[in-house]
Amino acid sequence: MNDKRPAIDLRTGCDCGAVTLTATGQVISMFQCACVNCQRVTGTGHSSVFLFPESGLAVTGAVKTFSRPADSGANFTRHFCPACGTTLYGESSRAPGLCILPAGLFAGQNEWFVPGQLIFARSHQGWDEIADSIPWHESYRPTG
Ligand SMILES: [Zn+2]
Ligand SMILES: [Zn+2]
Repeated sequence: MNDKRPAIDLRTGCDCGAVTLTATGQVISMFQCACVNCQRVTGTGHSSVFLFPESGLAVTGAVKTFSRPADSGANFTRHFCPACGTTLYGESSRAPGLCILPAGLFAGQNEWFVPGQLIFARSHQGWDEIADSIPWHESYRPTG
């Protein structure tokens, strides 16, 4: 389950439709993140996201970005629609060439999403149910 890397070719858009996004390529990894930033941005207990090659991404329409320092010391940048606020993707200076896409952005066409782990379990709250059949990592996934 952890090594699932589905190939996708999907077109979607933000909530208001001003921005469209096409993702074509192979998913690198899928996970849940319960960090405090994801909780604030999503308004829920965790985000459901996947790593994807930035080269497979095509975005049309104007987007705004917000950058903040991440826990790792890297810079994390979130791209969102300036009209409706929908998060389109994120990227970290720690992982050049990769982007992080929210599974929910592909609502109605994301049945292939199978998260393989939870990261930032240290800020996860009990009211937010996460499968305990996947590995829980206190912060980032250990490398290697
Ligand atoms: Zn929008
Ligand atoms: Zn997070």
